[in-house]
Amino acid sequence: MSETQPAPRGGLLERLADGPVICAEGYLFELERRGYLQAGAFVPEVVLEHPERVTALHEEFVHAGSDVVEAFTYYGHREKLRVIGKEDLLEPLNRQALELAARVARTTGTLLAGNVCNTNVYDPADGRSHAQVRSMFEEQIGWAVESGVDFVIAETLRYLGEAEIALEVIKETGLPSVITLVADHQDQSREGIPMTQACKRLVDAGADVVGLNCNRGPETMLPLIGPLVDTVDVPVAALPVPYRTTAEQPTFQSLRDPHADAARLPNGVPFPSALDPFTCNRYEITEFASKAYAAGARYLGLCCGAAPHHVRAMAEALGHIPPASRYSTDMSKHAYFGTDESLLRKNQEYAAHL
Ligand SMILES: [Zn+2]
Repeated sequence: MSETQPAPRGGLLERLADGPVICAEGYLFELERRGYLQAGAFVPEVVLEHPERVTALHEEFVHAGSDVVEAFTYYGHREKLRVIGKEDLLEPLNRQALELAARVARTTGTLLAGNVCNTNVYDPADGRSHAQVRSMFEEQIGWAVESGVDFVIAETLRYLGEAEIALEVIKETGLPSVITLVADHQDQSREGIPMTQACKRLVDAGADVVGLNCNRGPETMLPLIGPLVDTVDVPVAALPVPYRTTAEQPTFQSLRDPHADAARLPNGVPFPSALDPFTCNRYEITEFASKAYAAGARYLGLCCGAAPHHVRAMAEALGHIPPASRYSTDMSKHAYFGTDESLLRKNQEYAAHL
């Protein structure tokens, strides 16, 4: 990766006007898989305990084609840190996550995004929780602004009301906002508002980009994209989890594995740490990216479960050639399955026996 700073290419909205923008997400799951983060509480302590791993993953995602470096403050909020008894780490963790991301963004010419997410304390009927949520967003977004973020992502929000609070706090900063809601089994917010209408209300309240992230795989997120594009007049975001969800099991929490012994799984189901057999291959991500773009989505990415090879597939599907494309699959020189003239014919003839 070059240490010299590439020429700036404008902010998020300028880049979206030029073409699709890719945002790699899924840091929580990928660092868990690599052995640096605990499934369950899912708190990004890795930011403080192994910052070099976070930096490396930022770099890998950019190498694979992400246009955005999202600071890893996901679930680094006050409520999550309270649950693990480490509220004292709240500010150091957030500031360090932002600094790690900023360094990679600066050296690669990518956009730096701040991040907030579902707080788990929002209750539509409890005004006190709204104030609590607002103050949680204010402290995290405040640190993001001080770090010089280009825009702020508020994501995996299943309550429209909570998303509206996040949007208000972001708007007070004057920075562009990307607000992505989560669709559970129904195509609606947790309050019961149809997803298209929920997103429209966010646009009416000033959101710059709206859409969906997490929970749903490509197959079950895709049908929501077209109607959303038809409903709002801002760029639409689509960032599924790269898992093979179905109409019957539309979210990655609802996936059931007929080959797995439920008794051996920590909570009896594949989510979150036994989802491996459902992982999409990179070509399924190529297909999703092409279809989502054709449906009008312009801010694309992947959430929990994503790895750099998925991000590269998405980037290539959208016409980008990231540095990692240097190593994209080329089978022509494979000893058994290749076509190159210089390969030994006897190996190609034997290929059917492999
Ligand atoms: Zn996710």
